[in-house]
Amino acid sequence: MRTTLFLSCLLLLSPSLPAQLGYKDTPKLPGQPWLVHDIDRPRPKQITPGDLPFQPPSDAIILFDGKDLSKWEQIGRGPNRGKMVAPTWKVENGYFEWTPGAGDLVSKEKFGDAQYHIEWASPVVVENEGQNRGNSGVIIQSRYEIQVLDSWNNPTYADGQAGAIYGQWPPLVAPVKKPGEWNYYDIVFEAPKWEGDKLVKPAYQTVFYNGVVVHNRKEVIGRMAHRQVGTYAPHAPEEPLLLQDHGSKVRFRNIWVRRLAGYDQEN
Ligand code: MG
Repeated sequence: MRTTLFLSCLLLLSPSLPAQLGYKDTPKLPGQPWLVHDIDRPRPKQITPGDLPFQPPSDAIILFDGKDLSKWEQIGRGPNRGKMVAPTWKVENGYFEWTPGAGDLVSKEKFGDAQYHIEWASPVVVENEGQNRGNSGVIIQSRYEIQVLDSWNNPTYADGQAGAIYGQWPPLVAPVKKPGEWNYYDIVFEAPKWEGDKLVKPAYQTVFYNGVVVHNRKEVIGRMAHRQVGTYAPHAPEEPLLLQDHGSKVRFRNIWVRRLAGYDQEN
């Protein structure tokens, strides 16, 4: 509470800080008492996770096995705007890392209902504050973001913490690790469904963050949005996974996906 009061005072005193700490001039989230990125929304309680590795099962689609980015494309920037280009994130020592001037990474394969496993680490050398510290994102179907952020001793708005459904729901708790340590997300994603242009089923996210449940089949309000309430627009049943370029030297490794079918499927 004291922290919240302190942050609110800071917000009033310093107009340059809100982008790091939160907002009071954004729209209200539907069905919640909070504004988008509300500075007064309680930050999730920090807990200490266990440290379990998680290797892919035999039916997983491996998107990164430590060797190359052949399963990925990159959204072009500058003169390559509007094109897909070869990835320029740096592959080394079994992981890949953002490099200056890169771009969002997009999986060549597309997915609907799926289970994802993704490991990430924020930079060892801590730079910047709030949303500019170790920011990336696991953006399922290129629209629905689970936030990646260095949330270790880094005050920023609750719905922008690592593990948040960005701009909508903070993680239930914050099982954060120190900068440079490997984190892992295990996500069960239920894709939204349309009949024509009408949304008949929203997306749902179940997320384990370092083995701890942080979203339990949470309904997604809409696509990821900054300072707005995200909305839905019709898209294909399967869409690529996107890893966000947010200008931070974030690393990823051991990325795999399993398509989810219904019960009673033939082998
Ligand atoms: Mg992000």
